[in-house]
Amino acid sequence: MGNKRLIIAIDGPSGAGKSTVAKALAKRLGYLYIDTGAMYRALALKAKENGIETNDENGLTKLASELDINFINTDNQTYIFCNGQNITETIRTPEISMIASEISKSAGVRQEMVKKQRQMGRMGGVVLEGRDIGTVVFPDADVKFYLDADLDERGRRRYKELVEKGQEVDLEQTIKDIMQRDLSDMKRNHSPLRKAEDAILIDSTNLSVEEVIKEMINIISQTKER
Ligand code: C5P
Repeated sequence: MGNKRLIIAIDGPSGAGKSTVAKALAKRLGYLYIDTGAMYRALALKAKENGIETNDENGLTKLASELDINFINTDNQTYIFCNGQNITETIRTPEISMIASEISKSAGVRQEMVKKQRQMGRMGGVVLEGRDIGTVVFPDADVKFYLDADLDERGRRRYKELVEKGQEVDLEQTIKDIMQRDLSDMKRNHSPLRKAEDAILIDSTNLSVEEVIKEMINIISQTKER
């Protein structure tokens, strides 16, 4: 692999394993990992705390423009700080997932988020993970992946993750929540979730995390330096 610091985009539906592989990939490449979903989640948390309704486009856009979000990467963990507060765990609840999905429909909110994401990634040496990275945020990304998996498998993974965090959840409900969020993310008017034409599809249903990463590294190492 050359010395060029690439921009790597990973998009796909909820629970496909994007965060896990993006984090590991960034670590191996010595790149910065940017979890764009965490940014929408942070905004969701702030909106909830400030009593801003999910349909208050102006209020949400203003809140997004003032959102001060920082990713602190240590060897094994990525911490998310919002306006100086550690929100790493607080944003991982089913309620915040749903609010995040609702507010991410707003064009004004998306514009603010995309601005921040481009700012963070423009120098390269980044792995960005989300829903619109390859289509909108960095359409010229050096490598684009679209990570998918069967709905039931994604539901099981998300369920396991939440249980491990000590949350009381139900498997059937978790699968339903994911399905609803996917539908809403794919059907929204602004930057809906879709695979960029030049993105490489990886179906992780029957692959281990290690297998997905291996495949990605393989593809990245074949990428010509621009
Ligand atoms: O990836 P994660 O599940 O944390 O994302 C939470 C929500 O944020 C998604 O369901 C989606 O509605 C929104 N999102 C988005 N664009 C991104 C990343 C996340 O609209 N790039």
